[in-house]
Amino acid sequence: MVSLIDPLGRRITYLRISVTRRCNLRCYYCAPAPGAAVRAGTMSRERILELVRVAARLGFRKVRLTGGEPLLRADIVEIVRDLSRVAGIEELCMTTNGILLAGMARDLAAAGLRRVNVSLDAVDAGRYAQITGGGDVEKVLSGIAAAVEAGLTPVKINCVVAESASEPDARAVGEYALAHGLEVRFIRRMDMARGLFWKVQGGAGGDCPRCDRIRVTSDGRVKPCLFSDRGFDIDALGIEGALRAAVAAKPPHGGVCRTDGFRSVGG
Ligand code: SAM
Repeated sequence: MVSLIDPLGRRITYLRISVTRRCNLRCYYCAPAPGAAVRAGTMSRERILELVRVAARLGFRKVRLTGGEPLLRADIVEIVRDLSRVAGIEELCMTTNGILLAGMARDLAAAGLRRVNVSLDAVDAGRYAQITGGGDVEKVLSGIAAAVEAGLTPVKINCVVAESASEPDARAVGEYALAHGLEVRFIRRMDMARGLFWKVQGGAGGDCPRCDRIRVTSDGRVKPCLFSDRGFDIDALGIEGALRAAVAAKPPHGGVCRTDGFRSVGG
């Protein structure tokens, strides 16, 4: 099987694409790093399709759409439909805050999305609003129910915690997930600018020796690692050139990233 291998021998098969830096929530931990450049450009639907076609030819097998909030893109269902038809991509999934999911889950599933991860840091309405800058948790819970009904399963819950899964909000999310048969992963709050990150509890993130990921920012730069300032511009290098350069530059482990925030790279 063709695939790109990085200098440490890691086989790189997983592409995470931030399709927009816009978001409809303002989670307090997800603000761009002070001094990070605000990049306005956003990849077009055609550019994203071409990117995934080239990636599939180079051996990428899994694609995750993230952001920003991917469901804010007016053409997100069409993007999913395009990507679901790319030969070689075996898994197409999305990370969303779920606010708009209730009205879109069925169309996304019909377009070929396999499953979703939904971010949920609290189930209490007041706490959720506090954490997200005014978000309505009921919309997220309806979105999760719609995703399950549409077959976007297993739905996985991403829950950001300050220190551990035993905090009250995290425990409540864990209980909610258990009661609804959902998987949950607890993500200890990271700080890109200070290089603080941990392994994701219940997931594969943050495990540098086993990392198989490359990320593409919403403005079309390919990043070898979430915790790296490096980014290879598709406009300058072409898609294949930028993907190959990022794989070749993949660091042994995460460092710091002061050039981007979670919103442009995608968490
Ligand atoms: N808007 C979508 C969402 O909320 O799921 C996708 C983008 S969001 C940046 C992706 C994930 O990154 C979310 O699960 C979010 O909680 C996580 N995230 C954002 N900032 C983080 C931080 N400082 N530490 C850990 N996880 C973070």
